[in-house]
Amino acid sequence: MVPVLIILTIAFVAVVFFLAKVAVLQMEQASDEDVLRSKETYQKIIDQQAKALAEKTRLEREAAQIFTLYDMTREINRHFNEQEAFNIFKRRLKENITIEDCQLVDEVPPAPPMAGPDGREVFVLKAKEKKLGFLVTQGVPQKDREKFAILAHQFALAYRRIKLYKDIETLAITDGLSALSTRRYFLERFDEEIKRAQAHKIKMSFLMLDVDHFKMINDRHGHLTGDAVLKEIGAIIKENIREIDIAGRYGGEEFCVVLPETDLEGARVVAERIRKAAEARVIKAYDAVLSITISIGVSTYPSDGKLPEEIIDKADWSLYRAKSQGRNCVVAFGMYNPPDPAS
Ligand code: GH3
Ligand code: MG
Ligand code: MG
Repeated sequence: MVPVLIILTIAFVAVVFFLAKVAVLQMEQASDEDVLRSKETYQKIIDQQAKALAEKTRLEREAAQIFTLYDMTREINRHFNEQEAFNIFKRRLKENITIEDCQLVDEVPPAPPMAGPDGREVFVLKAKEKKLGFLVTQGVPQKDREKFAILAHQFALAYRRIKLYKDIETLAITDGLSALSTRRYFLERFDEEIKRAQAHKIKMSFLMLDVDHFKMINDRHGHLTGDAVLKEIGAIIKENIREIDIAGRYGGEEFCVVLPETDLEGARVVAERIRKAAEARVIKAYDAVLSITISIGVSTYPSDGKLPEEIIDKADWSLYRAKSQGRNCVVAFGMYNPPDPAS
């Protein structure tokens, strides 16, 4: 009986042990799967975090870029000068990308640059398909090319605005027919020049020009031909004065020139040069081939007057005198009215 009990006990213990082992094995298997699942979840979280971080970096970079663009545009828009605007752009470029040099040019450089890494490259500045100029860059690495293009495009827009503003400004101060200054702008500049001459105690002269028998040209050839002649006279005047001289259309077929830092003798030389050039010019206008002459009155600051009105009056008087002397000549007020040595 005892051995049977022993055997039964052993068998029972063995079954219990077996069941316990199966249970442990099942538990171990289950926890392995849990660990695996946890690991996968963890990896997913890590991946998502990395993605979120990359997105954050991208957004930050984009925000910084937008801010740079906004800031640069705002700074440039405070200026109305092409060179100043370009200087700001260049400074901003150097703050934001790696670049050795950047030049703003109107014409494409003669030899097309090599587009190698860090080489010279040309960026066409255009807005609304209109070419405005070129940026020639040196040493922009590949990684910064896109950023450069974004900044350069923004600069092109600002540059176009400045150019448009300049065009409008030029239109407002330029006489449409002769391409010289309008009377209003000319008189403003004349005022400034007199003040400058006064401040620096220097001389300056004034010319008043009038086309001889111009009415006859209109009568014989028509107003359009007359207009073409006035345009040509504008060109003749411009060709025979310096960059610092200011030429304007005073009205009708009368023109004026302010000659800064020029005394009576100097002014007579310029006036003679213009008169002779006009006399020598063969003007082709529509079907007509014409030659014209002009008369010129000269006055000088301060000997002939101190106020703009006085200077203009004296030049006008001299012009009248030139007309009465037979036209096609230069008369200076000082020739007939020498300045009082005491004054
Ligand atoms: P003078 O030698 O004495 O100066 O004779 P003139 O015929 O030139 O003088 P006047 O001042 O009598 O004539 C000027 C003419 O200029 C009269 C006017 O019809 C003409 N004129 C004025 N402005 C214009 C313009 O914009 N275009 C044209 N075609 N003619 C103009
Ligand atoms: Mg006249
Ligand atoms: Mg005239």
